[in-house]
Amino acid sequence: MSPSPEKAILVDLGWGDRKEPADLTITTTLGITGTPMMERTGSAYLTEPRLERIPWLIHGFGTAAWTEADFGRVREWDGFRPVILDQVHSDIIHCVAGPQNGRLEGDALITSVPKLFLVVKTADCLPVLVADEARRVVAAVHCGWRGTWKRILEQVVGELRARYGCDPAGLLAALGPCIGPDCYEVGPEVRERFEAAEFPDDLFRPNPAAAGKYFLDIRAANTLGLRRAGLHPENILSLDACTRCRPELLSYRRDGTAEGRMYAFIGMKA
Ligand SMILES: [Zn+2]
Repeated sequence: MSPSPEKAILVDLGWGDRKEPADLTITTTLGITGTPMMERTGSAYLTEPRLERIPWLIHGFGTAAWTEADFGRVREWDGFRPVILDQVHSDIIHCVAGPQNGRLEGDALITSVPKLFLVVKTADCLPVLVADEARRVVAAVHCGWRGTWKRILEQVVGELRARYGCDPAGLLAALGPCIGPDCYEVGPEVRERFEAAEFPDDLFRPNPAAAGKYFLDIRAANTLGLRRAGLHPENILSLDACTRCRPELLSYRRDGTAEGRMYAFIGMKA
């Protein structure tokens, strides 16, 4: 496999070459040494350092310890209203201008309105948070293999351009924890669909232990999508941890359906 573009970004972030889960030292059930883990109100979520420096922005990638109820427990977030999707592995994008009654069906949310939390749920799929500092617009996107194949991130950037006047070159995108390239096994039908959609074949690696099966690098596939959409490589930020390998993260492949989902969120204070 050719070097994935996010490797250089990891170095820029100060994550070094910590590509392997074994290189991350677990200090407590909440903290991970050397990663931008934040702890608030007794629960835990990961933040991306560059997004963390934007004073009007709140964002995070929840771990297994962060539940939907935690949104309501953070006093400094008083007045924020979560917007949570019923996710359907689609390329449906909702541009929201206020609190929603009931849940929207789709896999991406965009807003330019403060005091809304855009929330996506994952447990192996890739959550992506996008921010435009100049236009003050944010987005949250759920990227499973189907959304990736449907190029949902490129479509989100298209909406940001068309509807909000965003310049893709000025967008910041943070890719949260997802299942890693050594753990995400897919069948040949997935590879064939990606091939037909003109994704490079080096996103797939044959599984030496299972004939006809492949490992898909879904992080690299979506990094590629963001590049194609016009984002600068240095603005594509990646919290590179494998959900299946890390016990403090939830994994559908490891834990099954009953274990719930992690919550990634982004919103604007003002
Ligand atoms: Zn893994």
